[in-house]
Amino acid sequence: MTTILDVEQTRTRLEEKGYRLTPQRQAVLETFLSNPDRHLSADDVYSLVKSTNPEIGVATVYRTLELFRELHIISEQDFGQGMSRYECASDDSHHHHIVCLSCGRVWEFSSATLERVERQLAKEHDFEVAGHNLQFYGYCKDCRLKAREHSTTTPARR
Ligand SMILES: [Zn+2]
Ligand SMILES: [Zn+2]
Ligand SMILES: [Zn+2]
Repeated sequence: MTTILDVEQTRTRLEEKGYRLTPQRQAVLETFLSNPDRHLSADDVYSLVKSTNPEIGVATVYRTLELFRELHIISEQDFGQGMSRYECASDDSHHHHIVCLSCGRVWEFSSATLERVERQLAKEHDFEVAGHNLQFYGYCKDCRLKAREHSTTTPARR
């Protein structure tokens, strides 16, 4: 578990940029705070928010995600699933993802080796690295088992 922004820190960050933490924005924020280990699509966020705030509109949710992304309250990930996924962002939350192409599940990992590679590349190329993003794609154990049980073909490769 990584430390993430709480409601008051988020309020401060918004106010520094001239935004208010409206009840709608707070509802979106709380969705992330109560699902810290999930990578939510905009539709996921919308349905989760809507379950407790039935009056909220989809456009409001999308605009809030965009604002939070700009202010680095959440970060956007593209797992090649045709939609973005969002997760809480914080300075010490750097990690990488493993994505199952079949069920779409996402696992997180960190690797000291990868971080060493970044420093090494920076040195070798005299390049100031601002960050990196790495994902591994494939098929999880469950999906491989299921594919074996239900057919003789392996899941379609992209
Ligand atoms: Zn899977
Ligand atoms: Zn993640
Ligand atoms: Zn890394």
